[in-house]
Amino acid sequence: MRKLKTFFIRTYGCQMNELDSEIMVGLLEKRGLIRTQEENDADLLLFNTCSVRDLAERKVMGKLGQLGRRKAHRPVIGVTGCMAMAKKESLFRKLPHVDFVVGTNNINDLNSVIDEVLETGRQTIRTEDQFEENLDYLVAKRDDKVKAYVSIIRGCDKFCTYCVVPYTRGQEVSRDPASIEMECRKLVQDGYKEITLLGQNVNSYGKDKPEWNCLFHDLLYRLDKIEGLERIRFMTSHPVDITTGLMEAVRDLPSLCEFVHFPIQAGSNRILKKMHRVYTVEKYLEKVELLRQIVPNVSLGTDIIVGFPTETEEDFEMTYEIFKQIRYSVAFIFAYSARKGTPAFRWRDDIPEEVKQERLQRLLALHDEICAEERQELLGSTVEVLVEKRNKDDNSVKGRTRCWKNVVFPGEEHLVGTLQQVKIHGYSNQTLLGTLINTPNCDLFSL
Ligand code: SF4
Repeated sequence: MRKLKTFFIRTYGCQMNELDSEIMVGLLEKRGLIRTQEENDADLLLFNTCSVRDLAERKVMGKLGQLGRRKAHRPVIGVTGCMAMAKKESLFRKLPHVDFVVGTNNINDLNSVIDEVLETGRQTIRTEDQFEENLDYLVAKRDDKVKAYVSIIRGCDKFCTYCVVPYTRGQEVSRDPASIEMECRKLVQDGYKEITLLGQNVNSYGKDKPEWNCLFHDLLYRLDKIEGLERIRFMTSHPVDITTGLMEAVRDLPSLCEFVHFPIQAGSNRILKKMHRVYTVEKYLEKVELLRQIVPNVSLGTDIIVGFPTETEEDFEMTYEIFKQIRYSVAFIFAYSARKGTPAFRWRDDIPEEVKQERLQRLLALHDEICAEERQELLGSTVEVLVEKRNKDDNSVKGRTRCWKNVVFPGEEHLVGTLQQVKIHGYSNQTLLGTLINTPNCDLFSL
């Protein structure tokens, strides 16, 4: 039987995919493989893929196609992630040099699938539709030493008409709160300071397991008690499931950052209905107002799709106006691309590409304007920064505020992994520039 010594992994897409890759790296290292950053030297190539946007999918297909043309050193090639779930066996037809396909719900089977490929020499596939909570989370191998992702719920029951996730990741399955707490405690013992709780819709946490009596905000209260856990974040949310209980948790829990991802997707009720987002703009705005009453210093993030089928200029203007009114600090804005297998795929993708791009650019420009104003408002203020890394070139360190702003200030390696108070005195592009409070002599960035 062929022996594998090294592997290379490339990750596409969302934070959940990044976490899945960290788990797969741990599983492969457990079987004795060594990770390499050199794709050409690796005995095993793993591509953890994304299907959410057409571009992400085309990139992977292009990459995998190139590998088929390789003459020397034929590695074992595996495809995992959402594209594996969306395309299943058809991947073997299009890319006959791919050796195995492992879906998002079968990560734990990775090593047994590799064994099967090595023993039989046959293409192997494992793509179950439903996730079973059997993942060995503690095996995850993280590169980051300060911040970690922790999965709390997988799958999605919302079925927005443009989204492949309910088909590629299955129904919602919450993870046992005791297991989440144990992993978080271990991460804190290992020196992690910030944990981002992950799920396609974290706000649905616990609804599928009423016997646990632990909804999302209950989980947050439980995790906030972990000593040494400085910051908790979460992503992503569905507006319908954002409860008053969660808003109060953001206000009351010291570790919970004052940032809520509150994805509106579109500002027109007609488009929201077509997207099956199950809220109206009015209901959404009511919730935002309530959140801002409860947590006045909260920052908001959003996802927006422009150019959804039938979107008129008037519909787009409504999205633009709401964006301006709410002033999102963080925004992921995309031009619509039809995804096979979704209800919207059957509708005519009738907005010309240049119109989508023009709307996209207008919204991006508005977002840039808002961010620039926010940076301007922060001048002279003091912010809390969790230091994430050191930049050796200019003796500076880099970190983020509780509300996701990048900050750079002069500092040494020992600051990495600590919380610091930093006075902001300038900015460069998207990054705030500051000075560590109490160390006025190292003001490298004074303007
Ligand atoms: S809530 Fe999010 S993950 Fe679920 S279907 Fe809608 S867009 Fe997709």
